[in-house]
Amino acid sequence: MAYVMHFCRNKQCNNGWIDEDLTNAKSIPPRWKYCKKCAAMRGIDYAAQTPKSNLTCEELAQREKKKEQAQIMRAQVKKY
Ligand SMILES: [Zn+2]
Repeated sequence: MAYVMHFCRNKQCNNGWIDEDLTNAKSIPPRWKYCKKCAAMRGIDYAAQTPKSNLTCEELAQREKKKEQAQIMRAQVKKY
């Protein structure tokens, strides 16, 4: 298991810590996870967080859009 520097998803909280690398982060510290303190404050199970579990509906929609665009680009590349 690889480890990487994480930063808390709460923008008011500047907590950083070393945690398991679930998203293959190379240089950019992931910000999808709340630190233990913020997770407790929000009633979130710290250990149960996944890269998707904290996303808002809007962020999820954006992700889907990006995925679609990537698929379209790939399809176009294949054509030529
Ligand atoms: Zn925090």
